[in-house]
Amino acid sequence: MEMKEAIGRLEAVQRKLFAYNSASSALYLDGVTVAPRDTAEGRGVALGVLAGERHKIMTDPALAETLAILDERKGELDRVHARQVEELGRAVRQITRIPAEEYMDYAMLTNQADDVWHRAKERSDFELFRPVLEKLVEYNRKFAGYYDPDKAPYDALLNEYERGVDTAYLDNFFAVLREKLVPLIRAVGEKPQPDTAFLRRTYPVEGQKRFSDYLMGLLDLDRAHCGIGETEHPFTLNFTSQDVRITTNYKENDVASSLYSVIHEGGHARYELNVDPALDYTCLAGGVSMGVHESQSRFYENIIGRSRPFIEAIFLKMRELFPEQLADVTAEDMWQAVNRAEPSLIRIEADELTYCLHIMVRYEIEKALIGGALAVKDVPETWNRLYKEYLGVDVPDDAHGCLQDSHWSGGSFGYFPSYALGSAYGAQMLRNMEKEMDVWGPVGRGDLSGVTAWLKEKVHRYGCLLTPAEIVKNACGDFDPTAYTDYLTKKYTELYGL
Ligand code: ZN
Repeated sequence: MEMKEAIGRLEAVQRKLFAYNSASSALYLDGVTVAPRDTAEGRGVALGVLAGERHKIMTDPALAETLAILDERKGELDRVHARQVEELGRAVRQITRIPAEEYMDYAMLTNQADDVWHRAKERSDFELFRPVLEKLVEYNRKFAGYYDPDKAPYDALLNEYERGVDTAYLDNFFAVLREKLVPLIRAVGEKPQPDTAFLRRTYPVEGQKRFSDYLMGLLDLDRAHCGIGETEHPFTLNFTSQDVRITTNYKENDVASSLYSVIHEGGHARYELNVDPALDYTCLAGGVSMGVHESQSRFYENIIGRSRPFIEAIFLKMRELFPEQLADVTAEDMWQAVNRAEPSLIRIEADELTYCLHIMVRYEIEKALIGGALAVKDVPETWNRLYKEYLGVDVPDDAHGCLQDSHWSGGSFGYFPSYALGSAYGAQMLRNMEKEMDVWGPVGRGDLSGVTAWLKEKVHRYGCLLTPAEIVKNACGDFDPTAYTDYLTKKYTELYGL
């Protein structure tokens, strides 16, 4: 086969995969936003067929052959095509390593597991979920061996979510967090809490929608390229670098909820919209990894969105939209209220300071489960003990404990740490950004263009052209978790007068 022909095939197969992915995403988006209630069945059938077709494309021997030819003559390829061969080749290898029958059985198991998990959570009954969780752990240990037999099982799984990250890297990271954050959280806990009651006054949804428009404007999210919808759990979905959708959830009695969903998802969208359009329709399009993506969404949400200058910048608009609700509130009150930190039980409701400790508990449990040091039956007890140790809270039942998240029932082991890593990467990016430019002057005027330009240059534009580790290196330098603990220490010392 000629090089030219092989490259033509490579490009064609990526466009095809793009089309299947787009169709699946559009169906999914329809299902969670505007589709009538009892219409899931047909979409389920269509999604199943699309997934099957995608699997066929990826496991087609002709694709493996094309990739092998290109890989052999890699020296002759330009950088973009060479990376495509690398990435697609890796994806093909990972998929074909799992025997088809096991793959199907596992897909059925995760389907069933989701349903069992829902019921178990509702009744707060871990015993109901235990047998399924045992099977999921067993499968994941086995899959880890297929992914990379040379790595310890949990390392192999971590590597699937965040290439280059392993337990040695995370042990060091979490040790720093444990050492610095546990005492900081204790110190904060001894101080009086700011008043947050005004956040729960009645904020009509119409006003909140206008507020979302304003916030999207601040993030320079052009509505001709970025749509906003409403779902119970907010998320971001990207089709191309010109077509991204975000969702939010308006709660009439919680104005901060949608405020921070829009900024968080807006941060994900900002990333996607800044990826080099030349990478569209290829396997290099879109954000590079979950950890890097969270570093961007959390940068906008927490580092910028919960900063004093930013709150001062948006407060006038808030007052204009909600004059009665905020008549007796100052920007300073608002800044303190949206940063209230308090150890709690539920990860997704946790504040910026305590959030990573929730992740640390899950990391330690996953590491021990997949490593074989912890039996599934002992998960609740370990969970409760670690929550007491790190966060100082008593877990009343498993629904508020080890059954709260859906990740394990979906078969995701090794996914949680990327949330914490993302937060830490963001803090280190801030440190570097502050050395190069005035960050807070413009932010205080509601001008985020400098921040976005920096992130675009160092992170966004590459898509998957660089690996996650290369992008982190590019934007952070050598990873240093103390940038994150220093950032939190400074912020909360100021907030709580420590
Ligand atoms: Zn996110």
